[in-house]
Amino acid sequence: MNEIEDDAEAAGAAAAEAPALCPRCQKPVALCVCEALTEHRGKVQVLVLRHPQEKDRVLGTAKMIEQQVPGSKVVTGLSWRNLGAVLKKDAEPKEWGVLYQGAKAARPGKDAAPLVAVDKKAAPLEDQQAGLKGIKGIILLDGTWSQAKTLWWRNAWLLKCRRLVLAPSQPSAYGKLRREPRRDSLSTLEAAALAVSVLERDDKLYDRLTAPLRLLVQKAGGKQA
Ligand SMILES: [Zn+2]
Repeated sequence: MNEIEDDAEAAGAAAAEAPALCPRCQKPVALCVCEALTEHRGKVQVLVLRHPQEKDRVLGTAKMIEQQVPGSKVVTGLSWRNLGAVLKKDAEPKEWGVLYQGAKAARPGKDAAPLVAVDKKAAPLEDQQAGLKGIKGIILLDGTWSQAKTLWWRNAWLLKCRRLVLAPSQPSAYGKLRREPRRDSLSTLEAAALAVSVLERDDKLYDRLTAPLRLLVQKAGGKQA
């Protein structure tokens, strides 16, 4: 057998193993989350910068943001010239907040608000109300901690955006399903949902937007949990 036939055989085997994807939610049919997807037309847009090596397609949640929040975007890459280049329209970085914890940032205390505006050194701003006022969009970095760090350092324009950190009051719904590096942090969807619900002052929004993740975890982990 020559190499070409080998490749063809390997490709055929891979196709046979790959589960069919739901055309709407893009999850394997057995893990379809469509019934839990909602549509939220709000004031705050979401932009997800996804590291090219972020491969967690089956359990990934970034696409659920696009599917639920019209106007939101998930883009894959390592660096972009500026915010406008990513959004493909004029954008004022000061009207956008980037969610980035950073290794040195002190974690907000237990009594902290769920969304905290911080300065360049990740220290909470004196005036939180002013810090969160007028934010029209939030940016999330999707990937492992080190991938997020790479995205942060490769896109200097992020420093022109406001900087935000999350202090979630409940752990991620991922629980044991999630791989180690992000175990104690929220999924991309949960982080976006929390930030948007705070900025739009809608208490019920978090549960609505994260419903597909809970369904995914239930379907994917029901047996092993
Ligand atoms: Zn589906």
